[in-house]
Amino acid sequence: MSAHVVYLEQLPSLFEKWKEKFKLFVPQKKGDYYLLQEYERGQEICFDYDVIYNPIKSFLFPSYETLLDFDLKTYASKPVVDAEPQILFGIHPYDIKAINQLDQLMEMGSVDVNYRARRDKTVIMGLEPLRVAKTAFWSFMDAEKVDFGFDLFWTKIGPSAFVVEVGSVLGEELLFVNGKVDVATAAEKEVARRKHQEIVKKAKMQNVLKFPNTDIPKVMAKSFNSYVWIEKSRKCLSCGSCNFICPTCYCFDIQDEVDDLLKKGKRYRTWDGCMLRSFASIAGGHNFRKQVFERYRHRYMRKGRYIYDLLGELGCVGCGRCIQSCPARIANPLEIFNFLWEDVSYEK
Ligand code: SF4
Ligand code: SF4
Repeated sequence: MSAHVVYLEQLPSLFEKWKEKFKLFVPQKKGDYYLLQEYERGQEICFDYDVIYNPIKSFLFPSYETLLDFDLKTYASKPVVDAEPQILFGIHPYDIKAINQLDQLMEMGSVDVNYRARRDKTVIMGLEPLRVAKTAFWSFMDAEKVDFGFDLFWTKIGPSAFVVEVGSVLGEELLFVNGKVDVATAAEKEVARRKHQEIVKKAKMQNVLKFPNTDIPKVMAKSFNSYVWIEKSRKCLSCGSCNFICPTCYCFDIQDEVDDLLKKGKRYRTWDGCMLRSFASIAGGHNFRKQVFERYRHRYMRKGRYIYDLLGELGCVGCGRCIQSCPARIANPLEIFNFLWEDVSYEK
């Protein structure tokens, strides 16, 4: 993959050119949070954000979307696929890893057509983090670096220069849209490499996983009957925030809605979450995870074991969003993994 150098002053004209064909979303500061929002000319971009609060999945898999329209007179239905070309600029590696995981999950079984259509029209531009969120532990979850899943990857190597690694043909086309840009020298690439090492070192000094992450599935397998689930879940409000904010959670519910004359209707889906009481309720009023602790345990089992069994990688990228969003302060996967590791009597 080639690498190039782009200067800050070149960005506005690149952005304007990209906006001719794509919706462009960039990191911005909004009050106490950072959000990925649509770029307006002259807008300031936060290259040093710690974590974008809105999970990136919402750009590929919105919290509400219509799947099809139907006519109850003719029994005809029409699929609705609403996918516009978009560029997601400034995505940190742990969030790219989460997208890579969603790409696999949404292709399993029958392909999720709406997700795939939106993903095919999405350009991912990665960004090396300059700061680490207080709640983040991505450097312990193999999520500090990605080798694929981006079209361009940007590393800020000084106040006004970036090394940009090309990840796809489309990425290269977009980079050269105003003409070719300089190839990065060996020295510039070395600065980018050191920037990466520095931030990873910083991340490793906080929120430490006390054991190799490859042991998490084993720890979880031994912890199904741990007292921690009941103990910790006592404060849980079953609000689902930890699910909705998580970049790797992808459960949804499908419902039909008809007009008041019963002539037409639509089928739509909304995000769902395993922490909600209704999630596991089925016909006849049965609920196979009625107790709060069962739902609480299930969420951690998914992050630490079930997704691993499915894909060979953990279902948590260590972004720390759930820790920030939980009103009861009990949604911390790192704390639970460390606690269980110390608690279970397995051969370390
Ligand atoms: S479980 Fe929490 S820390 Fe892990 S990926 Fe989801 S939101 Fe991020
Ligand atoms: S965010 Fe906290 S309180 Fe809400 S469902 Fe998750 S663990 Fe429970």
